[in-house]
Parts: sequence; C-alpha cells; structure tokens
Amino acid sequence: MSTITKIEITHHRLPLDPPFPASWDTRPRTHFPATIVRVHDSEGRVGIGSGDSMYGFADYERYFIGEDPLDIDRHAAVLANIEFHAGRPWPMDLALWDLIGKIKGQPVWKLLGGTDNKVRAYASSGVHRSIEDMVQVAKRCIDRGFPALKVRFGRPKLDDDLAVVKAIREATGDRLELMVDCNQGWRMPWDTAAPWNVDHAERVAKVLESHGVYWMEEPLHRGDYAGMTELKKRVGIRLAGGELTREPYEFRELLTRGCLDVFQPDVVCTQGITGLAKFAREVHEAGKIFTPHTWGNGIGVLGNLHVTVGTVGAPFIEFPYDPPEWSTARRDYPLVNTIECDDQGWIHLSHEPGLGITLNEDLLAKTMASQATFS
Ligand SMILES: [Mg+2]
Repeated sequence: MSTITKIEITHHRLPLDPPFPASWDTRPRTHFPATIVRVHDSEGRVGIGSGDSMYGFADYERYFIGEDPLDIDRHAAVLANIEFHAGRPWPMDLALWDLIGKIKGQPVWKLLGGTDNKVRAYASSGVHRSIEDMVQVAKRCIDRGFPALKVRFGRPKLDDDLAVVKAIREATGDRLELMVDCNQGWRMPWDTAAPWNVDHAERVAKVLESHGVYWMEEPLHRGDYAGMTELKKRVGIRLAGGELTREPYEFRELLTRGCLDVFQPDVVCTQGITGLAKFAREVHEAGKIFTPHTWGNGIGVLGNLHVTVGTVGAPFIEFPYDPPEWSTARRDYPLVNTIECDDQGWIHLSHEPGLGITLNEDLLAKTMASQATFS
C-alpha cells in the first residue's frame, strides 16, 4: 500500500484583459483565480484537484499524511468535518480521486461504475448582451452543435431579460433548448440585493413557460424550501438549483420536500466526488435530473464530468462558454489542453488514469499568487 506523503496548495491568478463582466457579479473581473492542490504518495504519484481557495487547510493536512489514499470514504468524512471548521476543502477529494485513478490505472468515471465516456454539453453563457447579440450567441451555439443554451437574467430591467428569451425563441424555433438562470440563490459578498419572492418568481416562470424554457434556475434563495414547494405547485416549468447548497442534509431536504426537478451540486463546492456519486444516484432514483454546476476552471469541469458520466449521466451538463469574454483558454488555463466538445456538443472523457489532468506548469508558474481573488 502507498501512503500520502505531502499535500501542496498553490494559488494562481490569470490576468483578464479585457475584464470578464460576469452577469452574476456586479464588478467586472480582472483576474481568474485558481487554487491547485497536489497530493503526493510514497510511490511518487501525484493527484491533482482544484476549486475553492482552501485557506487554512494546512492546519489539517496532518490528518491525511501517512494514510492510504485508497481509504476514500474515511477521507471524505474527515473533509466533511473540516468543512464545518474551516470552509470548503473539496478540491482535496478531487485530488484523492485523481490519485486513486493513477494507483489503479483507471479513469475516475470508470472507477465510479460508468460504462460510457461521454455526455452532451449545454453552452452556459455568462455575459449580459443586447438582444441582437444574444440571438447571435444562440445561433452560434446551434452551429457549434450544442443542444441547449443557458441565458443569464439580472439586467437592470426584468423586461429586458424576458425580451432576450423571446427573441432567441423566435429566431431559433425548436432547434435549441433554453434554460434561464435567475441567480437568486447566492450573492457576491458585497451584493446585498434581496432575492425574489414566490409571487415574483411565479410571474417570471409563467413567461418562461410560454417560451418553452427547459428549466428555471435559482428562482428563489437556496434556503427558501417553502417558497420552492409553493412555486412548484403554481407552475409547470422545471425548477433547478443547489449549486451553492452545502450540506448533505440540505440536499436531502430539497429532495424530500420536492423543491426541485434539477439538482446542480458541484463537486468542488460540496461533498466532492465521493459524496456526489452517491447523491447523483439518489436524485436519479427519485426521478429527478442530476446535472452539476461546473462554473470554475477546467479541473472542476473535469471533476463534475467524471461524477456525472460515472454514475447516472445527464441530458446535458454545464459547459461554461461565452467567447470572447469567457473562452475555453481562459477557463482551462491550469491545463495544457482545453476541454472541448465535438461538433454535436458531446464531451468525450479520456481513458487516462485519474481525472485526465495535465497541468500547464509554465502558466501556473507565471500566474503564482498569494491569494485567490477575482480583482
Ligand atoms: Mg447557476
């Protein structure tokens, strides 16, 4: 058996010029931070993960040193305890799975029980554009083979958001599924705007329903369980959420109360691959859709792809993509090779052991930083 000998955590910041005006952030982003976790074992192998900043994790590394990397359920349980004390440590779970794959000589999707290496992507846009430009974005998605596009709400006037959906539907007919992200479930630290209430969300939902929108994402605050169940009674459109819900018991509440049709936990934000592989199956057994949030760097995208492909699959999975402001080159800068879809929108995972990560060490060295901040 090999043992864990060392854990390295480094921060990086890619300068963004021009800045990225993320629709859910009131401040344009001048940098894209990435935290890289490397877990070394006694045989010289290295598992790689990324995601949250892991500040303070050094205090807890001792609980992993000398342990067998394969003892993943134990490690995930320790990480769940650390989450309570010191913030989200889930990139460590990704690094351990990458290491386990390298020890066993298998890709993670296969270790989880997957029989097929592919899943179809939906284009997840991230910029508020004019109606005309959003129609062009939608047409480009069709040309690129994407089956679906997610549109962002949050312009100063709701009518302008709704006009975008109407215009895209009129221009593309039934050639593209559309999703709408209302982003009411979370806020940047300085953004104190109140989330929508049920009546408001219902009015929006009815309009989206009339345009045949596939799901409405985060129409209410992530903890408004009563609001979500009430909204479910009033509207027919699928409701999606859970991207920044943290605890397993919170997800169980969302599931047992029938709050959502589409569950979007992200392996780098909650429970890691270990926990979400189990939860994906629970969601599937309940007749709901599991399709993770993936908005982060390419390592997080890979972690979410592996857990989806390795368990229950998805009609389509989030592919952060809104060039030129959000290109795969920006998104995947920690990697040598960007993650791309084929001309029908399918992402094919590799058969390499682990998560299939090759770090772009040159760029990581150039972007080394002491913090993982966006501006
Ligand atoms: Mg979202």
